[in-house]
Amino acid sequence: QLILGIDTSCDDTGVGVVALHPDGRAEVRANRIWSQTVHARYGGVMPELASREHVERIDAVMEDALSEAGIGVADLGAVAATSGPGLVGALLVGLMYGKGLSQGLGVPFYAAHHLEGHIFAAASEAQTAEFQLTPPYLALVVSGGHTHLFDVVAEGTYQLIGATRDDAAGEAFDKIARLAGLGYPGGPAIAEAAKLGNPKGVAFREPMLGQSGYDFSFSGLKTAALLAHRAGASGSDLAASFQAVAVKHLLKVTLRAAANLGRETVVVSGGVAANSALRGAFGASELRAVFPGKGLNTDNGAMIALAAAAAIRSGRAPSGLDDGAMAYAPLANV
Ligand code: ATP
Ligand code: FE
Repeated sequence: QLILGIDTSCDDTGVGVVALHPDGRAEVRANRIWSQTVHARYGGVMPELASREHVERIDAVMEDALSEAGIGVADLGAVAATSGPGLVGALLVGLMYGKGLSQGLGVPFYAAHHLEGHIFAAASEAQTAEFQLTPPYLALVVSGGHTHLFDVVAEGTYQLIGATRDDAAGEAFDKIARLAGLGYPGGPAIAEAAKLGNPKGVAFREPMLGQSGYDFSFSGLKTAALLAHRAGASGSDLAASFQAVAVKHLLKVTLRAAANLGRETVVVSGGVAANSALRGAFGASELRAVFPGKGLNTDNGAMIALAAAAAIRSGRAPSGLDDGAMAYAPLANV
């Protein structure tokens, strides 16, 4: 069956289509994203402007997604939309749109958790003839707002075992790019500048070396980057050195968790999972590292349809129409 997924949690209007096959395979058929540009001049996302843009764009993005999938609206068997966490006004646009569409079509509606979407973004990529992504596995969500390490003990059961104590990984990429004048969004800008830099050019101290748990910290690196910048470090050395220490930190904590809990697979997802240095380091580790496919790392609608596909596959009941948007929504036992 064909599932439409909508994500309007922040400043991207995303609509995707996923085909859920009888054998349980989920396949991305379309993934269209309108990335709002109105926020650039403010240096951050303006919630009210984001909501308005979603309202203006969502119809066109959905039409694009349907035509990319080569289907009509009547072919849809289910509709899903993000209910949280995110900006409430922005979330409401996609949520109401999705609920209305499901009612109009007479098909089930699934409210999806944004982080479950990020995690399941890797699910379709992971499945091969000899490998299916099945619990238990670790899930590291590294995005603009989260650096969360989950132990996925069973389908739909997420135990949060570690998280950032301060800034999210993506936030650190963005802030360091900004202070070094490398551009916005910071993640891709740092990755690009790092190609020309020396990863040992700036001496960063790896965060939280003494801990026995699974937490992360990025604010110390941000301060160190500011001091190095003022002391005259080049943007490319700063980028290369920060990227190297950030990747090392993320990998070391994840490896410790995997060793202690006996996990062999880790899903790495969220915007920072697009980073090729991070992919290289996790890929070369002893873990089986699974990443989202192209266009599925940062916010998108297809990942929400993939999360709904997993919910349908595991027999989860559709959501009620009274489920509201949630700014704050911990992911546990969805
Ligand atoms: P959340 O999901 O926590 O609500 P978000 O949806 O805003 O946050 P995403 O869209 O998943 O976050 O990711 C955006 C983040 O990913 C930004 O901080 C961006 O800098 C970062 N990012 C994108 N590409 C790269 C890259 N190649 N390397 C490192 N970071 C990257
Ligand atoms: Fe996100």
